[in-house]
Amino acid sequence: MSVPDKSGHFGEFGGKYVPETLMSVLEELETTFTKARKDKKFKDEFAYYLKEYAGRPTNLYLAKRLTSQFKNLKIYLKREDLLHTGAHKINNTLGQIILAKRMGKKRIIAETGAGQHGVATATAAALFGLQCEIYMGAEDINRQSLNVFRMKLMGAKVIPVTSGSKTLKDAMNEAIRDWVTNVRNTFYIIGSVAGPHPYPLMVREFQSVIGREARRQFRAKEKRLPSYLVACVGGGSNAMGLFHAFFNDTQVKIIGVEAAGHGLQSGEHSAAICAGQTGVLHGSKSQLLQTSEGQVKIAHSIAAGLDYPGVGPEHSYYKKIGRADYVGVTDKEAIIGLKLLSQTEGIIPALETSHAIGYLSRLDSKAKKNSTVIVCLSGRGDKDVNTMKELI
Ligand SMILES: *Cc1c(COP(=O)(O)O)cnc(C)c1O
Repeated sequence: MSVPDKSGHFGEFGGKYVPETLMSVLEELETTFTKARKDKKFKDEFAYYLKEYAGRPTNLYLAKRLTSQFKNLKIYLKREDLLHTGAHKINNTLGQIILAKRMGKKRIIAETGAGQHGVATATAAALFGLQCEIYMGAEDINRQSLNVFRMKLMGAKVIPVTSGSKTLKDAMNEAIRDWVTNVRNTFYIIGSVAGPHPYPLMVREFQSVIGREARRQFRAKEKRLPSYLVACVGGGSNAMGLFHAFFNDTQVKIIGVEAAGHGLQSGEHSAAICAGQTGVLHGSKSQLLQTSEGQVKIAHSIAAGLDYPGVGPEHSYYKKIGRADYVGVTDKEAIIGLKLLSQTEGIIPALETSHAIGYLSRLDSKAKKNSTVIVCLSGRGDKDVNTMKELI
């Protein structure tokens, strides 16, 4: 059975937990999206921008020197870091902006954590000549000043959010508030497979090009399917983008890597699946970090893009039905992964992506001989050099 169902549920997860004022606009969005995904004109336009503008297909690169560090793993990297703007996020913002244009919306809003989704949204808005406002936590604005500057250069307005923990979750609250007030002329581009239906489905659809390409490329090179897929999970869009095309290939083991911050026992992490409970956040039912009273907890990760207390509902579903395993990788392990990839391959990964790399040594110790892995290299590390300079 394919998920989500008509009401946007992935098993018990997902759905649309939103104020009534948003119900009609979500329905309008769903209708437009449902038509667009079957429409040749939409598909051609999306494919055109992915190829000519963003730089798809991305390489599936055999990382030989990285592989030589391990006993049992042969490692391929799906190079989303090579896309325009340096991460997978552009796949989704191009898809959503083409939809916004179809719906006649003139104003684009988005939330951002690390600033990568903000940059990808500002990029797409500039490309299509639409007005763009980005909500960003004041804490993240400090951590990611380079991305703030990039957004402004492209003509976007960056609105600092000073409520709550001043990070991604709070930015998303403010963006939803804005949307409720300005639904008629405004399109809200959500940056991950989170939020109310149809966003988790829509973002998955736009990101699933990653897995479709990787599956084809891997089979051409290896004449089989990979043993493992590994990707970091914040909201979960690069991971779901890779995983989705392999859902029915049950021999392929799927591993999502959450940010374990200072350790899963420390209480300071962002591991919603490994250490959370079922609840509702940002219009969707999923696993999330909350207190026993149901208050959303502050998440922690060294990687701003993983620093989110929730996770997309489809990941909670994959976990529930046993299709994927989820593990936690600490800040420290991520830094080890970052150095390892930089020094063996000359590729500096984003701190988010470094969590997926950081997991490989643990995977190697339990994998069978001659196992193959595709790692989603979700983004490049240039945006993080200031943070890295303090840590390394
Ligand atoms: C935003 C981001 C992530 C986390 O978001 P997902 O929706 O979980 O993919 C991971 N890697 C990079 C490079 C990012 O920019």
